[in-house]
Amino acid sequence: MLDPIIQLRRALHRRPELSGSETGTAREIARFFKPLKPDLLLEGLGGNGLAAVFSGKEVGPTVLLRCELDALPIQEDIEIDYQSTKDRVSHKCGHDGHMAILAAVGTELAAHRPVRGRVVLLYQPAEENGEGAAAVVKDPKFSEIKPHFAFASHNLPGFPLGQVVIRAGVFNCASRGMTVSLSGRTAHAAQPETGRSPAATMCHFINQLSALPPEIVAGNETAFATIVGARLGGKAFGTAPGNAKIWVTLRSETDITMSRLVRFAEQVANKSAREHGLMVDINFEDVFDATINSESAVDLVQRSIGTNSVIVPEKPFRWSEDFGRITAVSEGALFGIGAGTDIPDLHNPDYDFPEELIPVTTRLLLRVVDNALASEIAVKPFYCTRFTQSPRILNP
Ligand SMILES: [Zn+2]
Ligand SMILES: [Zn+2]
Repeated sequence: MLDPIIQLRRALHRRPELSGSETGTAREIARFFKPLKPDLLLEGLGGNGLAAVFSGKEVGPTVLLRCELDALPIQEDIEIDYQSTKDRVSHKCGHDGHMAILAAVGTELAAHRPVRGRVVLLYQPAEENGEGAAAVVKDPKFSEIKPHFAFASHNLPGFPLGQVVIRAGVFNCASRGMTVSLSGRTAHAAQPETGRSPAATMCHFINQLSALPPEIVAGNETAFATIVGARLGGKAFGTAPGNAKIWVTLRSETDITMSRLVRFAEQVANKSAREHGLMVDINFEDVFDATINSESAVDLVQRSIGTNSVIVPEKPFRWSEDFGRITAVSEGALFGIGAGTDIPDLHNPDYDFPEELIPVTTRLLLRVVDNALASEIAVKPFYCTRFTQSPRILNP
């Protein structure tokens, strides 16, 4: 008989759901938490999100731990007995493992409620497209769980199992997807000069974005653009093209450099389009701010690690995370936990979350929670619907 946490992780792995469609996953999580009798279970948070709250009897800080509900549009490419049952959808970022870890933390908190403060276990939707954390923070229900401290861990292939990787300041780069649509006019291929082809503008844009001018990038900051796709006209040998699309991902360490990068990319597209008599339409999606870790939250994590060494990367990770939307409204830290040095990378079709990481990360998060709940910060009393003890009034 499998441990209930492993059972949950495998059930979630079998039925992965894409960002924004995590209804079945949310139901499964609610089903797991209801018997644990959390003091509050918020559902429909920022879409399909949930939060289970475990409260202490004494006033103290609110500490939030976050995991993610969503899977990826990737065909699973390994044979396991809990294989994804969905075509071209699978948990290739390990969010199934992250959900299991918070379920294990919840099980422990249900058996041993915190003495003071409260712990919020947030199951956030739509992390992979950058929309979920923003939607959770914008949801009016978020005011009921707004934390003093927020933490999230992400498994990291390529690092020894259980190795903590953390840094103060920027942990993950900002990034955003940009679509440039160019419209001119088709012409007979024998007389291309009578039409307006977007070919020259498309090439110019790709060249300019592939080698950014130095004034865009401050100091030794990492900032670059990756052309991820482009389409011009089609296979019609008699026709000079009238339309083009370019897809590019912009990436930078800071939000301020991202603003410069966006302005530069827009200017290049607009100027060249004007010169060639083209219409231009620009759209952004998958918008991630930089994730910035606060010194105090990083310090709490470091104090919770004990004697194990910590890796402090010199530069932020290039991949993006939307947890920055949460650390923008509270003290917080996102950190990596090594998933092993010989396992496939995140988002690869043969990646599978290593289950050995569940107890290791659970123990660490419980220590982080204990240390954060013990911090002496000014907190207002909170009110919970199932608060078991009325506040005592001294010297009435
Ligand atoms: Zn991912
Ligand atoms: Zn992820």
